[in-house]
Amino acid sequence: MAAAKTLDTLGISVHLVEQGEHLGGKAFDWACMATGVCQNCGACLSAELADQMNNLKHTTVHLKSSISKIKQNNERFETTLNDSASSTILTDAVLLATGMTAFDPAKLPDLGYGIYDQVITTADLNNILKQERLKEILPDTPSPSIAFIQCVGSRNREMGRDYCSQVCCKTAVRQANKILHSIPDAQITVFHIDLQVIGKEFRTQAADLKSRVSLLQGVPGKILSDHEKGRLTVIHEHPETGARTARHFDLIVLAVGIGPCVEIGEIAKQLDAKPDQWGFLSSSSSLPKGVYTAGAAQGPTDILSSRDQGIIAAYKIIQDLNTSPETKQKSNIVVLGESKDSGRICQSLAQDGWQVLQLDTGHQQAAEIPGVTRFSSTSLHSVSGTVGQYNLSFTAGEQNHSVKAAAIVLASDAHMVSDTGFSDSDKIKSLNQFIDIFEKTPDKVPKTVAFWLDRHGQEWKVSARTCLSLAAALAEKGKTAIIVMEKMLVHGIEGQELYDAARHKGVRFLRTENSAQITVTPDNSNVLLEMNEATLPGIRLTLECDLLVIPENVGPPVNASETARLLRQQCDSEGFLQSANVRHRGVGSPRRGIFFVGSCHDETDESDLKREINAVKAALVVLTNRDIKTELLPAIDKNKCARCLTCYRICPHNAVTIRDNYQPVISTDACFGCGICVSHCPANAISVISESGSVSSGKIASETVIFACDRSGALALGSAQDLGIFSEKNAQVIRVSCAGRIDEPMLIEPLLNGAKRVIVAACHEGNCRSVSGSSFAAVRSRLIVEHTGLNDTAIRHLSVAANEPVRIAGIVSAAGSGKEVS
Ligand code: SF4
Ligand code: SF4
Ligand code: SF4
Repeated sequence: MAAAKTLDTLGISVHLVEQGEHLGGKAFDWACMATGVCQNCGACLSAELADQMNNLKHTTVHLKSSISKIKQNNERFETTLNDSASSTILTDAVLLATGMTAFDPAKLPDLGYGIYDQVITTADLNNILKQERLKEILPDTPSPSIAFIQCVGSRNREMGRDYCSQVCCKTAVRQANKILHSIPDAQITVFHIDLQVIGKEFRTQAADLKSRVSLLQGVPGKILSDHEKGRLTVIHEHPETGARTARHFDLIVLAVGIGPCVEIGEIAKQLDAKPDQWGFLSSSSSLPKGVYTAGAAQGPTDILSSRDQGIIAAYKIIQDLNTSPETKQKSNIVVLGESKDSGRICQSLAQDGWQVLQLDTGHQQAAEIPGVTRFSSTSLHSVSGTVGQYNLSFTAGEQNHSVKAAAIVLASDAHMVSDTGFSDSDKIKSLNQFIDIFEKTPDKVPKTVAFWLDRHGQEWKVSARTCLSLAAALAEKGKTAIIVMEKMLVHGIEGQELYDAARHKGVRFLRTENSAQITVTPDNSNVLLEMNEATLPGIRLTLECDLLVIPENVGPPVNASETARLLRQQCDSEGFLQSANVRHRGVGSPRRGIFFVGSCHDETDESDLKREINAVKAALVVLTNRDIKTELLPAIDKNKCARCLTCYRICPHNAVTIRDNYQPVISTDACFGCGICVSHCPANAISVISESGSVSSGKIASETVIFACDRSGALALGSAQDLGIFSEKNAQVIRVSCAGRIDEPMLIEPLLNGAKRVIVAACHEGNCRSVSGSSFAAVRSRLIVEHTGLNDTAIRHLSVAANEPVRIAGIVSAAGSGKEVS
């Protein structure tokens, strides 16, 4: 869908073929994991995209259709559908976004799936959560005991599924959080190999989870019924000590891994594509010309990455078909940052014909890049304007400059602190220092080298992988290589292969529950590490090595908060650029034309960087060719405007600029049509052209009036209607572009006209595309109730996601019968 939207925006005809009754695949059916605040799973985006498909001009959707035959003829593809008319489609390219198949745990009968009712999968739990039935399946106790068993059908060499599925640990963490949100005293245990909680939103979430659930290393192979107590017994065997413990649970959730969709094998055969050993079409070299992949067809991936892959595939298609629009070549793009990442993106943009200005904050002389104008030693002073016409002023050395740019890409480096804390000892080196020795003077690498991961918190992907590769190389040369860690994050197939290779080559792994308990004593000849090794409880282990390597501590780029301030952007909870809001990730921001790539915003390796650069290029093409005439946009009536500049300050997308005489002007290119400026303008000077909902006619069709956000409440109610659990007879629904559009008169008017209650159905905190729209509406609703003395059920703020039809229908129905449901 993301690919179709991108191609459609550029005027390219698309056919979307979907087996199911609705678009969105499995992601569409996934439950919202919000716990008062969004948990960034991205599932609601699927419902939103599916809704948007209805309005695309050049896209034909074929529901309940599968592919019966596909063949390539003279560089075109002829696809015959299994639909009622056996339709044939002729296309210039084929994108396989065929989704995934969840592992069937019945293949592991010892886990009791299909035998015990209390053994379910994460997919089953998802359905239960979506149906709001969690409490129905648990015993009536305030603290039910629930186990998650990770890696069921993943990282299992004997079954030929030796890859990490990448999504199951994140799913389990989110589901555990969701359970704890509704049952705070639930006792949750997560059995894992190494909990793969990766990415900016997860480092903090995982740290928080550690204090709320019991994390046990080692996954049980057998589940037994405890007939007397009606519970299930798990025999947990420690993976390395072999110590066995029986534990009892009311519910066991198997975190099942994912594989490619079953049909992809046949399609690949017809297209002469070459799947890898697991059945994924993971490499573009395995695909014939004109065939592309995205999502789980490529390999295990999550919803957000699948969306990005779709956008990137669309970009590759337009590049390969040479249908890329012309306008981009005229645009200036500014790339900010001192890093090699910034050089990479400059080069890549220049190769595609963009005019690139590199504002390098570093002082070193860098090699000239053809097509790139470079300023070194820069310091940014201000950024004004909006997409298509940003103005940046900066100094480069002693000189002041100002430039104009259509878009800005931030690509500064994460800040690496190499101080190991033991700078007095030449037996302890940072990772980069060690790489230098390893590459330049390999004969100086001593016999025993230990790498200490997680010393500064969860280790970054690139550092962990580098240590694995170096340790394996040392072991191969007959040296002793040891990795000391809290956990090993493999970050997908490539990392799993590195980890397996390191083990295979004889690298030793020592595990500690808490890195802070390790004491390090360097002396002239070696280094002693004393630690509580997780597999030897009660014993303080002493490790002796000739050299200890500690990866650099990685933190946000220097001046990240100042850069964010100048660009009117947010940082995440760790101080890295870009908020965790799924509406704008991977590379985007709430401000059109501002992008992030590389370690300034998240941990990225080489392939992430390539993906992000392509995602930026795809976004730039869309940006410069978007048809804004179709969107709802506000306009300022200059005669009414009091020039208070509230709109300039409040616009979450920075779409308001100030012209002569303090006159604000809304940029139609930059505006998202949220309407927040409309509801905040004290002079009522802003109106939205052809706004969808109004109650000013005075006609109220129901006792309940719902203002529903176009991206959340309205979609959830639409799905509820499709499911037959909500009808507009129960409530009058008024769609708004964003809950932030709703002002006081809108909230009061239905009540004056006879409605008994008004519900605002807005996005969950952290999920609002317009950042604060939902919060503005929540505060407004509360203040009206407080200041007018209205009954507090008269106006209610409800945070909801597009994929919560059952929950919203339940709440509306309960409100109609005078009950309160959360
Ligand atoms: S609001 Fe959307 S992204 Fe956030 S947890 Fe719910 S479904 Fe996931
Ligand atoms: S908020 Fe309204 S009155 Fe104030 S500057 Fe903007 S348009 Fe003018
Ligand atoms: S509608 Fe939203 S995005 Fe557009 S100018 Fe107003 S506040 Fe900004």
